Amino acid sequence: MSDEIVHRVQPAWKKNALIDNDTYLKWYADSIKNPDKFWGKHGKRIDWFKPYTKVKNTSFTGKVSIKWFEDGLTNVSYNCIDRHLKKRGNQVAIIWEGDNPYDEKKVTYNELHEHVCRFANVLKKHGVKKGDRVTIYMPMILEAAYAMFACTRIGAIHSVVFGGFSPEALAGRIEDCKSHFVITADEGLRAGKHIPLKDNTDKAIEIAAKAGTKVEKVVVVRRTGAKIDWVEGRDVWHHEEAASVKPDCKPEKMKAEDPLFILYTSGSTGKPKGVLHTTGGYLVYVSMTHQYVFDYHDGDIYWCTADVGWVTGHSYILYGPLANGATTLMFEGVPNYPTPSRFWEVIDKHKVNIFYTAPTAIRALRGAGDEWVKKTSRKSLRILGSVGEPINPEAWEWYFNVVGEKKCPVVDTWWQTENGGILIAPLPGATDLKAGSATRPLFGVVPEIVDGDGNTIEGEGNGNLCIKEPWPGMMRTVFGDHERFIQTYFSTYKGKYFTGDGCRRDADGYYWITGRVDDVINVSGHRMGTAEVESALVAHDKVSEAAVVGYPHDIKGQGIYCYVTLSEGEKPSETLRKDLIAHVRKEIGAIATPDKIQFAPALPKTRSAKIMRRILRKIAEDDFGSLGDTSTLADPTVVDDLIENRQNKR
Ligand code: ATP
Ligand code: MG
Repeated sequence: MSDEIVHRVQPAWKKNALIDNDTYLKWYADSIKNPDKFWGKHGKRIDWFKPYTKVKNTSFTGKVSIKWFEDGLTNVSYNCIDRHLKKRGNQVAIIWEGDNPYDEKKVTYNELHEHVCRFANVLKKHGVKKGDRVTIYMPMILEAAYAMFACTRIGAIHSVVFGGFSPEALAGRIEDCKSHFVITADEGLRAGKHIPLKDNTDKAIEIAAKAGTKVEKVVVVRRTGAKIDWVEGRDVWHHEEAASVKPDCKPEKMKAEDPLFILYTSGSTGKPKGVLHTTGGYLVYVSMTHQYVFDYHDGDIYWCTADVGWVTGHSYILYGPLANGATTLMFEGVPNYPTPSRFWEVIDKHKVNIFYTAPTAIRALRGAGDEWVKKTSRKSLRILGSVGEPINPEAWEWYFNVVGEKKCPVVDTWWQTENGGILIAPLPGATDLKAGSATRPLFGVVPEIVDGDGNTIEGEGNGNLCIKEPWPGMMRTVFGDHERFIQTYFSTYKGKYFTGDGCRRDADGYYWITGRVDDVINVSGHRMGTAEVESALVAHDKVSEAAVVGYPHDIKGQGIYCYVTLSEGEKPSETLRKDLIAHVRKEIGAIATPDKIQFAPALPKTRSAKIMRRILRKIAEDDFGSLGDTSTLADPTVVDDLIENRQNKR
């Protein structure tokens, strides 16, 4: 879409901002010119038991080896908790908001320290040692945070598996990293519905055992009090064990490159990979990006709505914010329960200043109607963030105008599980905004756009997004499969990290993510990102959400197939279909004229709520017999309706 809207940095955003534009430009240049010096300085933002003398030791070629701060010793739990105790022991570290709007808890840094120490001692008591993998399969409750920090405290490697995953998916992840310990809860609670986590865990353990991985201990947190099966000798109650151990536990001295956690990617494109992150560089990177991207000031109340089962939850609910001594909000529920006002009510209730959510939620809440937003105050809001998918300019504008009432910058943050932290995003006091663009790279990040043959595109252009230089927060390997790491990320374009995303750089040097490269469609020789056509559809006032894929077309090579979900109260009709086709033609041009439009009550999404275009492509091709790996699909029944009403029936 050519006629982009620019929102200049407002004086109020600049006034107390940590970084203004000159500082951004200077720091960015320094970070590229001399990474050793730049990171050598900023690495000191965390505490080290033994300071590093080496900063960067990396190679994107050959065996690919990434090391930062390698001779330093530190500990993540110490940095996120202990070092704050003197100054802010009585400050709230985590506000917990339950699924039920009447459920809330506040935990101070002092209290967090004790909970984490006890949990760490429980793990030790049951045989967990430094380097062991611990699988965490939990709802969004405080104990999930305690469990993660407990692992980091004793040097165990956590692998958090989102509580919405099935027993099979959980088993696959237990097996892949050979984890002999699982932490779970009796049940989870989401939108009033009970999720049988312990039951799923029991099933997963059976499946994993058949494949040769024996789980020896299961720590169970009591959330709902539901009746559950119990395996004597294997299962222990968290509350009983925590009461039986000491409230203090010394943090382990960890090498900067000791593994911190494994996290399986969300599986939008295929079999999940066990992304491995390490200790020092990761913490430096997430704390720094959290502070600057969200312009975090002491005393701010910060809320990221992600689940701790995703990397956003790791980096920007827990590790980044708590390393900065922040007050972070953890939410157990969903955006539309009990009503679509829930997010905004929580913001008012806890006086949230910084709010970070996903386009999927923004689009859904926009589709539900403005009245749900307008009946709340949102006076405390200062900054709005977005992550997870390209945010359509229309949704961006709604977020900015309606939710933020034109007063809050929207920071659209582009990054991946593999990246550890945000790579491309505006800084509130520095960067003029363009709706739909993640804008400019952060410190130390060198994006490069290449064409299909690997030639670098300078200046304005469209192509595949690579990152040319290593940064401290990036993944180090695929757990147990370094070859897959090299193959997946460094073999397509030699010597560069390939993101798998398509991207356009405009005349101002701003980056626009056009979607995944695999999703690019080629119509009569014109390459088009799916995000562009989707944004045009979402810009229509009757459309809440859209997904676009290509399908084989005799004349054009590929035809444009659109799945469209309408806003609350709108009905599908032939007139509307024609109207939408005309609308896209007008917005983008005749080349983008949709060939097929299928009205879809819902779209297939991963459990992290991203549209799964891989499946939509199959349905559009009338080849739904082979949908591939659907284990990461949130609601498989959605697919049946789509197949039933497909437009390319042979
Ligand atoms: P898998 O790698 O297993 O297929 P995934 O890529 O969905 O799953 P994540 O690491 O959670 O797993 O998501 C990263 C991807 O999400 C990016 O590569 C990009 O496609 C998309 N994305 C994230 N944030 C943004 C953003 N702000 N704008 C555009 N796209 C984004
Ligand atoms: Mg990915």
